[in-house]
Amino acid sequence: MTAPRDRNDSPAAVKPAILSVDDDPGVSRAVVRDLRRRYGEKYRIVRAQSGPDALDALREMKLRGQPVAILVADYRMPGMDGIQFLEQAMDLHPYARRVLLTAYADTDAAIDAINVVDLDHYLLKPWDPPEEKLYPVIDAQLEAWLCTEHRPITETKIVGHRWSARSSEVREFLARNQLPYRWYMSDEPEGARLLEAAGTDADHCPVVITAEGEALIEPTDAELATRVGLNTTPSKDFYDLIVIGGGPAGLGAAVYGASEGLRTVLVERTATGGQAGQSSRIENYLGFPDGVSGSQLADRARRQASKLGAEVITTRDVVGLEVRGAARTVRFADGDSLDAHTVIVATGVMYRRHPAPGIDDYTGRGVYYGSAMTEAARCANEDVYIVGGANSAGQAAVYLSRTSRSVTIVVRAPSLENSMSHYLIQQIENIDNITVRSCSEVTTVAGDDHLERITLRNNATDTEETVDAQWLFLFIGAAPGTEWLDGVVVRDERGYVVAGPDLAIDGGRPRGWPLERPPHHLETSVPGVFVAGDVHADSAKRVASAVGEGAMAVMLVHRYLAKP
Ligand SMILES: Cc1cc2nc3c(=O)[nH]c(=O)nc-3n(C[C@H](O)[C@H](O)[C@H](O)COP(=O)(O)OP(=O)(O)OC[C@H]3O[C@@H](n4cnc5c(N)ncnc54)[C@H](O)[C@@H]3O)c2cc1C
Repeated sequence: MTAPRDRNDSPAAVKPAILSVDDDPGVSRAVVRDLRRRYGEKYRIVRAQSGPDALDALREMKLRGQPVAILVADYRMPGMDGIQFLEQAMDLHPYARRVLLTAYADTDAAIDAINVVDLDHYLLKPWDPPEEKLYPVIDAQLEAWLCTEHRPITETKIVGHRWSARSSEVREFLARNQLPYRWYMSDEPEGARLLEAAGTDADHCPVVITAEGEALIEPTDAELATRVGLNTTPSKDFYDLIVIGGGPAGLGAAVYGASEGLRTVLVERTATGGQAGQSSRIENYLGFPDGVSGSQLADRARRQASKLGAEVITTRDVVGLEVRGAARTVRFADGDSLDAHTVIVATGVMYRRHPAPGIDDYTGRGVYYGSAMTEAARCANEDVYIVGGANSAGQAAVYLSRTSRSVTIVVRAPSLENSMSHYLIQQIENIDNITVRSCSEVTTVAGDDHLERITLRNNATDTEETVDAQWLFLFIGAAPGTEWLDGVVVRDERGYVVAGPDLAIDGGRPRGWPLERPPHHLETSVPGVFVAGDVHADSAKRVASAVGEGAMAVMLVHRYLAKP
């Protein structure tokens, strides 16, 4: 017993269902025949021969977001009678109208059912002629149902706890991959209904229900990536170029590498877009006078790279780089490896952890590193605190101010002048519900299962204040996560990768450099391994410069391949 639906059914094309359940095959066929004749064009008529079968079909329809208009259940069925069936069906599809089919002798039971399962109608058998006895009843029920909330929810659904770090990560992952989703809390009625339909409970959240109705219980990023149609495995063993990191620099390198005929693979740890993917509005990138959201830019770049022939692999973490003769080998966290003639390291930077004691306990439960766009809807009409004085903090403040009650930017410096672009400072000054608390820092955080209070210290006045706060977004500078390159390529004291002329020691060749020629401009201390973007020592930390370095690194890859 299934409720089939084409994979590419659009929500508009999803027909609401009328489900009939009767254990007598003859009666069941007759009811369905009559229903189909009159309602088949606009409604999907689903037939089941037992209560449990019908409940399975209803669970499947729930997961697929298919609306159910009417349930027609026979009263006398073995195992589970019609009233018991309707009682359980209500938990899944509370808005479906409930009709009980009874013999004359069972009228009393039917009347009792009006109270037990809030029955909408009982229909006496036989219902011939249907024009007189069946259709007027069903017409009236459909009319009543059409007045209730029944819009099909066919996009991906996530059910999770309000304050759960993993639920927040899953939302962020889907958002960064441009996958629209609907979020339900596990303790709200529809969330609970979806969990029941998925055969699980609130202890096993988050649950992601795909548009096709498949329930993924506590999925990993790699599982999600596969289900949403992203590549997680390279198709070849050997490439001309491996690009590590899918931010602007990596995507730029992949676009130019593939378009210039290099067999190119880009490997990304989470979702493409990098830091830029978290930006609500990039206003200083060439060619976008009205600004562009980071996720739009990332999506276009990813599609462009793929269209030009680059393989884009996500949810694969690179943890090692080795030199094996002419080959450069990249090792993944799961032990797999991949070889190429050349490598571009474009791994960018990550937010530094905030030092306030206990802050890690609330990460994902009120404290967020970046993620302002994903969480914006959840902090509507609430007070929000943002720590940081750079453009990323300013953009988040402007974005959140549209829906939040108030936004407070907490910054250690006396003003934003030295750390934020002038255009953003001006925007902030003109928004009434944004306040800047300068000379300040967050010293402690507190709460129960989620963040409830923060203590702010004013270093100029030497005073402290504890305020109620459920939302704290941290944009506090960044560090390159390049420990995995230790002992392989030269890095500076902060972990940024040194390249080209900066490697020279006293104007001579870098130590251990094996070739006659000096390193190319973006070449690291290992020939054939290049660097681009924010991870490059002393780089500009801008989208345009990252994209530019990605393109330039490809030009140098060609030079290396022509003459190593
Ligand atoms: C919120 C925000 C707003 C910003 N706004 C602007 C703006 O308006 N204008 C502007 O010019 N700049 C802006 N920036 C800065 C800009 O986004 C960065 O300079 C740019 O993204 C750097 O690109 P990148 O490719 O070098 O690194 P990143 O964007 O950091 O990308 C690096 C990628 O590499 C991946 N990675 C890291 N390590 C590994 C590994 N070991 N294996 C596999 N993958 C790995 C990461 O997951 C990441 O996706 C903003 C930054 C932020 C955070």
